[in-house]
Amino acid sequence: MFSNPYVEEFLGGLIIDTIRYFIFAGTPFLLLYVAFKSKLVRFKIQQKFPENKHMVREIGFSLLSMFIFSIFSVGVFVAQQHGYTKIYTDIHEHSIAYLVFSTILFILAHDTYFYWSHRLMHHKKIYPYVHLIHHKSFNPTPWATFSFHPFEAVMQVLILPIMVFAIPLHPLAIFAWSMYQLVLNVGGHTGYEVFRSGFTKRIHTFWSNTATHHNMHHKHVTCNYSLYFNIWDRIMGTNHERYHEEFEAGVARRKEMPEKSA
Ligand SMILES: [Zn+2]
Ligand SMILES: [Zn+2]
Repeated sequence: MFSNPYVEEFLGGLIIDTIRYFIFAGTPFLLLYVAFKSKLVRFKIQQKFPENKHMVREIGFSLLSMFIFSIFSVGVFVAQQHGYTKIYTDIHEHSIAYLVFSTILFILAHDTYFYWSHRLMHHKKIYPYVHLIHHKSFNPTPWATFSFHPFEAVMQVLILPIMVFAIPLHPLAIFAWSMYQLVLNVGGHTGYEVFRSGFTKRIHTFWSNTATHHNMHHKHVTCNYSLYFNIWDRIMGTNHERYHEEFEAGVARRKEMPEKSA
């Protein structure tokens, strides 16, 4: 449609990202905030529901973030076309084991990058001008997933160019990472907790974050900075002191509240 492949790449990326956002944030929104609102309120972390104006703001800033993400995607595409990145398109260039390993490494690197860039966003000289936009959602909905100030959107997406310049990555690994971050990010912003009692302490699950964890970050602000894994918060002692108690209190409340029909 467009003679310029970069414009085409930009618009294609923007359309796909936007559709993906509306599907992945919109589906839990329709299920949890509309269709089964009263039936599933037992699972709601903060019992109140945010006003519509908050969701309108969350969607607006998320769309702006998507625009910025697409600019960076084109940047990576241009760099790849000119042979500057380590992206490889022939899957046989490296083993399948490497494909899996590079995807996991990408996710782990992103988790570390997010924790420290997030701590930076909370610096008192940056927070009121930038990160406050994300924290206007003190009771977040799935729409808040990418609700960032443009500067923060740039900070967030920088992990992509960093990784494609650092290690060989197949587009499949990039796609797997992007889906992982989308699903986990939406999950953290649903405002609903689904995990069972003991999740935050059991040996095979304690390392994973929960929706309660990120919800507490939005509510209390100066704690629970990590993204996918509850590792950096433990190492740095930044988990909220009542994280485990609040998680368990939510599970207990879920059991106590009567089940309602939709
Ligand atoms: Zn958040
Ligand atoms: Zn924050």
